[in-house]
Amino acid sequence: MNPKKGKSEVMLFGRKPRNKNRKWMLGGVEIGETSMYKYLGIELKSGLSFKHYKKKIVAEARRRMMLVWAMGMREGKLGVTDCVRAWQALVRPVLEYGTVVWGEAKWEEGEQVQREMGKMILGCSPKMANEVVLGELGWWTLKGRRDFLTLNYWGKIVGGMSPHRLVYHVYQTSRSRYDKNHDSPNNHSLNKWCNNIHSILKGIDLEDTWNANTLTESEAAQWRGTIKEKIREREETQWKERMQSKPKLRTYILLKTQLIFEHAYLTTRDKEAREVMTRLRGGTNELRIETGRYAITNRDRPLELNERRCLICMNGEIEDETHFVMNCSVYEDLREKMFDAVSSILTREGIRISEARKDEEGRKKIMTALMGELFSSNSELRAAALHFCKRAMRRRNNIVRTVLDQRT
Ligand SMILES: [Zn+2]
Repeated sequence: MNPKKGKSEVMLFGRKPRNKNRKWMLGGVEIGETSMYKYLGIELKSGLSFKHYKKKIVAEARRRMMLVWAMGMREGKLGVTDCVRAWQALVRPVLEYGTVVWGEAKWEEGEQVQREMGKMILGCSPKMANEVVLGELGWWTLKGRRDFLTLNYWGKIVGGMSPHRLVYHVYQTSRSRYDKNHDSPNNHSLNKWCNNIHSILKGIDLEDTWNANTLTESEAAQWRGTIKEKIREREETQWKERMQSKPKLRTYILLKTQLIFEHAYLTTRDKEAREVMTRLRGGTNELRIETGRYAITNRDRPLELNERRCLICMNGEIEDETHFVMNCSVYEDLREKMFDAVSSILTREGIRISEARKDEEGRKKIMTALMGELFSSNSELRAAALHFCKRAMRRRNNIVRTVLDQRT
């Protein structure tokens, strides 16, 4: 072996202070110590912290995001599906490069990039709740994606990888160290990678597989599908839990129960109608229930909930989504037309419009049908609801601009 001076260096991992007098020799030549090493484009620091690296990939992802934005997303030339593809192919991979090595910790800056991209795709306000953004697009958190990719990689190691490979050895060595130190309190910090896999598998009811430390041939063949389904379930449960604590999601929580892409309405060609619908479903919109939450230019304080009354019809009700879609008299002519179009569909669902409109519970039921899962699945009803929301919102905002002189 003939190492060139400057080409080979030693890197020490761990937090122990360096021994200044120690010398490293390779092939009879003294080599230096380094604190940073670049491997396949990932910078490793001797403290095994990926902070520096993550900062760099966030910057790169943002740069690419703005590129996609300028490429045609901004003008609305790209439809939602194309935008999602651009995100998956051009931006997200940057945030996931090498993730099986560093993906353990929560990473808020990365999640933020994904949510910002989601808001750009949906054309909604930066104030839109995160759960709505992920919900409408059916997106997992990046942490969910990382856990999936990491487990997938682990499956390759224990599911048939040749024992001659270095990766296999490194894994099995640290695995036996992890198992041996099972009761030691430092075990997870000393054997982070094993500890991470172990805890993810435990969290999705696959601890038996962890204990077996091997996959049968058929398990290995289905591994990707198995963990995809398990992580999907976990993501959906956590998404629902996060929604429980947000009053802003009062409507959304009634409309959507599954973390899946809203393909049908998000691919509708009418961009304006689609965006109005996203705003109404998501609860971040121009209605006073929402704008009253903030102090705006001509009002110096947020409004109490009971002050956020409808200024369009002045009937004293709070202007929320139910008032807008079901009650506000200013849009009654548009509403009648919509009801004509959907009455037979709703009757099939056991809802008689004229009866149901009489009480609060019935009105909620109709609204949930008009904007929720029936809206997602029935094209005729969807078209009628989108049309109503667009026209009514136009009328509303026109009144605000001209009659109310923007005083909302
Ligand atoms: Zn009203």
